[in-house]
Amino acid sequence: MRSLNNKTVYLDHFASTPCDERVVHAMLPYFVEEFANPSSFTHAPGISALRTVESSREKIANALGMKSREIVFTGGATESNNLAILGLATKAIRRHIVTSNIEHKSVLGPIDHLERNGFRVTRLTVNSKGELDLDRYIEAIDDDTLLVSIQSANNEIGTIQDINTLVKIAHERGALFHCDAVQAFGKVRFDFSNVDLLSLSGHKIYGPKGIGLLALKGGPDKMAISSICFGGGQESGLRPGTLNVPLIVGFAYAAQLAIEQLDSIGTIEAIRDRFERMLVAMVPDVKLNGNPLNRLPGGSSITFDGIEAESLLANLPEFALSTGSACSGGAVTPSHVLEAIGLGRNESFGTLRVCFGRGNSMEDAERLAEKLVDSVHRIRKLNEILN
Ligand code: PMP
Repeated sequence: MRSLNNKTVYLDHFASTPCDERVVHAMLPYFVEEFANPSSFTHAPGISALRTVESSREKIANALGMKSREIVFTGGATESNNLAILGLATKAIRRHIVTSNIEHKSVLGPIDHLERNGFRVTRLTVNSKGELDLDRYIEAIDDDTLLVSIQSANNEIGTIQDINTLVKIAHERGALFHCDAVQAFGKVRFDFSNVDLLSLSGHKIYGPKGIGLLALKGGPDKMAISSICFGGGQESGLRPGTLNVPLIVGFAYAAQLAIEQLDSIGTIEAIRDRFERMLVAMVPDVKLNGNPLNRLPGGSSITFDGIEAESLLANLPEFALSTGSACSGGAVTPSHVLEAIGLGRNESFGTLRVCFGRGNSMEDAERLAEKLVDSVHRIRKLNEILN
């Protein structure tokens, strides 16, 4: 599971994870043998497909500590985030939304869209560790606030937010709380029971891509939310379209495995910590981003003074790494998250993201640290000669 091929060590697990082989095996029968449409109630294979979907729904609801009827399957967390935000806005009387400026673009995008269409938006800033200021958060929510959307953990710097406290404050003012829990689920133990809307994605938890969910407290019927896509009655009419049975089976199994394996996350954390300790000890002028006391295990965001991360990548072809969020991979603008925590343009371009996962070993961490130390020294020496 560890290598993309014999040469590449995959260290980009916040962008995507390999699908667990057990998950792949669980999905296989639903492509060829049990392929019927779960909306085909007129025959046994269709009814059997529906049963499979419903037992998967139950499995994933159990993994989340929720009820089956609260789960709506989507095509991934980008869709879940759009559905939560745009779907609530359609039926709302309140016209104000609160979010943070380090949210994923799939949260910020639909909120920008609502702002262009008359909603008032408060985008809270964060400190250099990526933490929200609680006083400013309290001030931001008023009687017109429809929704607060705050992520459980950041996909670039790993900072974890105190979701339970934030939910409580939002509820005191009658606002709903949406949480993009894509990065936290399966990495840290979380109690999501008070969150009104929750987004998850399959491919961040060693499941398949193109599948996600939106969990709605009490179920879709209990919430004033509208579909953003029309033409079918599936998923209580909230997400019309033929259900993707194999991906639903895989997603549910991956979620179950993620919960079962939570205790072993300490191994991944120890690998990340070893890597960071070696790097910091051997390379001057490096900075670790995120909240050192409360961040996701496995991830490391490192800023190298005076070095472009792209140059480092060119020196490390045997490692699959990222220079920022993979979702903005093609763009040449600095990451909005790094900007939000106060990094200048050059610092952002000098930042590397390393994300260890289930298939990595201590040896991977040590090899990467050694190679990075060597590359940084060489590039800095070259820069000295050229300048
Ligand atoms: N939110 C966060 C925090 C993410 O990291 C991602 C994936 N990069 C998404 C949402 C979007 O998920 P998906 O790829 O399932 O659309």
